[in-house]
Amino acid sequence: MSVEERLQDVKARIEKAERLSKRPVGSVTLVAVSKTFDADDIRPVIAAGQRVFGENRVQESQGKWPELKAETPGIELHLIGPLQSNKAADAVALFDVIETVDREKIARALADEMRRQGRAPKLYVQVNTGLEPQKAGIEPKETTAFVEFCRKELQLSIEGLMCIPPAEENPGPHFALLAKLARECGVAKLSMGMSGDFETAVEFGATSVRVGSAIFGSR
Ligand SMILES: *Cc1c(COP(=O)(O)O)cnc(C)c1O
Repeated sequence: MSVEERLQDVKARIEKAERLSKRPVGSVTLVAVSKTFDADDIRPVIAAGQRVFGENRVQESQGKWPELKAETPGIELHLIGPLQSNKAADAVALFDVIETVDREKIARALADEMRRQGRAPKLYVQVNTGLEPQKAGIEPKETTAFVEFCRKELQLSIEGLMCIPPAEENPGPHFALLAKLARECGVAKLSMGMSGDFETAVEFGATSVRVGSAIFGSR
């Protein structure tokens, strides 16, 4: 299959999952994860109509996305990888959605940069639903307090929650936990589901799924 065909296939599978879970068709946003692929690999996907993309590294993104964004208006770029505070300025300048806010220090750095640059990327809080020591994200039980802190202390509007379930586990319970936490803290967006489990994520209420290899091929 060509990359265009794989994109269409993923979109058709999302639509089928929306119908099966009685959710409106089009209610789930596909974030095409283009990490490790270069501008020439990404252009055909943009040409096929895709506008929302995800990247996990700030520096890698700076090497391709300013040019791609200049070529096509209406691109929405999501940061889905861990963010260091010394990269906060670059992230605020380039990304439209930052999905990996997960500690006070980074929230403060983003708030400062957003004020300084007059830019307001949308923000999601990453939750480490599997309590994995090597994985970024706030602990589930601290999520509500952290979202409140971002809102009250830093005047940040938190729009969503994001999770990456442990690779070896059934993702359903993790998606259900993220959906429950989102209801508890009054957050509307749920970023969950990747190539291997995006249909399950749609069933559990994902508003966006982050799909890389099923579109771009293996990395
Ligand atoms: C790489 C990545 C994805 C996409 O993974 P695939 O299995 O290739 O679909 C999704 N989310 C995050 C956070 C990633 O780093």
